Amino acid sequence: MKNIKYVGFDADDTLWINEPFFRDTEKDFLNIFPELDSKILFDELNDTEIRNISIYGYGIKSFVLSMLETASKLSKNLDNDKVNSIINLGKIMLNKPVDLLPGVIEVLEYLSGKYKLFLLTKGDLVDQERKLRKSGLEKYFHYIEIMSEKKTESYLNLFDKTDINPAEFLMIGNSLKSDVVPVIRAGGYGVHIPFHTTWVHEEIDEKDIPERNYYKISNLLDIVTLV
Ligand SMILES: [Mg+2]
Repeated sequence: MKNIKYVGFDADDTLWINEPFFRDTEKDFLNIFPELDSKILFDELNDTEIRNISIYGYGIKSFVLSMLETASKLSKNLDNDKVNSIINLGKIMLNKPVDLLPGVIEVLEYLSGKYKLFLLTKGDLVDQERKLRKSGLEKYFHYIEIMSEKKTESYLNLFDKTDINPAEFLMIGNSLKSDVVPVIRAGGYGVHIPFHTTWVHEEIDEKDIPERNYYKISNLLDIVTLV
């Protein structure tokens, strides 16, 4: 990896905590409908979210719309109070503090002196901007993009417009599907740092992980020994 000049970071669950807020909110959502089978409600919510990605994208606002759609499909008594409870769940999420994961400042401090750092996150534009501002991490990044998708073509487009040779780019993130595999397929290096909670939609079959240019670390600080 001697040729690396650029290091990209995912944000949600790589630099700061995100997914546990969704897991907690799912439980709160199920609790609004004690009369319904929670497994059926949960599965319907997940299916609705995945179906809606292509029209709403990722993030909390889309999640709220999917909760409302699921409730309206399965509940026979969806009244104003319940609708408001769901909307409030989303507003609570949008006001959560940004809690940085261990080692983030040390790693960014160290790497920003040696490489050009990229922040590549997907999700809702306004919400990701809010989190970035609250995180205080903007100053470490040479380039920041809130992407609508993180597929191989998305990274190829990024390399093209920023005039980057993929062989000089390394990406670190908690999602094999969004942060690691597509970057390796686009010609770069991918480092997986698993987080304890991963959304089912972000999971990937082990056999789909390319053998070359792939690394796995369990602690963010370990990246310093890799590059
Ligand atoms: Mg992530």
